[in-house]
Amino acid sequence: MEKKDLDWGSLGFAYQKTDYRFVANFKDGKWDDGELTTDNNVVINECAGVLQYAQTCFEGLKAYTTEKGDIVVFRPDLNASRMADSCRRMEMPVYPEDKFIEAVEKVVKANAAWVPPFGSGASLYLRPYMFATNAVIGVKPATEYQFRILATPVGPYFKGGVKPLTLRVCDFDRAAPCGTGHIKAGLNYAMSLHAIVTAHDEGYDENMYLDAKTRTKVEETGGANFLFVTKDGKVVTPKSSTILPSITRRSLMYVAKEYLGLEAEEREIPFTEVKDMAECGLCGTAAVISPVGKIVDHGNEICLPSGMTEMGPVTKKLYDTLTGIQMGRIEAPEGWIRVIK
Ligand SMILES: *Cc1c(COP(=O)(O)O)cnc(C)c1O
Repeated sequence: MEKKDLDWGSLGFAYQKTDYRFVANFKDGKWDDGELTTDNNVVINECAGVLQYAQTCFEGLKAYTTEKGDIVVFRPDLNASRMADSCRRMEMPVYPEDKFIEAVEKVVKANAAWVPPFGSGASLYLRPYMFATNAVIGVKPATEYQFRILATPVGPYFKGGVKPLTLRVCDFDRAAPCGTGHIKAGLNYAMSLHAIVTAHDEGYDENMYLDAKTRTKVEETGGANFLFVTKDGKVVTPKSSTILPSITRRSLMYVAKEYLGLEAEEREIPFTEVKDMAECGLCGTAAVISPVGKIVDHGNEICLPSGMTEMGPVTKKLYDTLTGIQMGRIEAPEGWIRVIK
């Protein structure tokens, strides 16, 4: 198979139409078989539930080429089960988890020419999503839905080297107690746009959200979980019912314990503790870990000892080990790497 003629290394994170996407429809209480299509447009009723009441959720994962030349995806079973959780909370029909993984495989296989070669640092980003398609005007769950997976090639995250981020402690809330912070709903992102636009206007890269109830505990950013390293070398991550359970963060906590022999703990993290941390990073599929160099709380600057030019040493080890596992240089735990044949 001949690869597309793209300058893989200079791709950004932007939508580009690829050859195939997967589409399945839910109607009369059941999912159809679904199929691949070349049509990248969606035509739905003007009164569709997704347009009126934002009944939609999504996932994100990557396909890439390993050192050995295999095309693989990382832990798609966790995306399948997280999407099922999102659907249940949004009163949407679950797309069966085994079918989800099959659909991921179909889309990657059909777009194999778009999967960047090993060493380019690029990957094929996959976006599974579901939305309510039939007309609803009275507030209630729709009865018809569409599940799709689109694929788009994206470039290496750390182009031109790693640059630690500067965050601000945000005055807006991301997620209400007992709300939807723990699921991957589009609505969580719609209401975060004002916060991120104003953060950028003020010169910050990202927002650090605190828990909405007490405004004393660290939650996450708009789209990534926190990992901290304490001065005595422990890896800690916030425990909260209102953060999104990042697959990257869960994988890194496992790597910290089982591969690096570090103590790793999920617990509440009071914001007052952050000034005593040695390292801080943001975890998500896009970057794996982006180091944080500085956190500004209404004029008070917390400068992480790891500085503004590189990843801290523990963050770097975590990053190298997980990317090593993903790329097939380091043996993966059972079931983490799914080869697309
Ligand atoms: C998707 C997402 C993450 C990162 O999750 P990964 O599974 O690691 O990509 C973190 N926080 C939020 C709010 C998200 O939507």
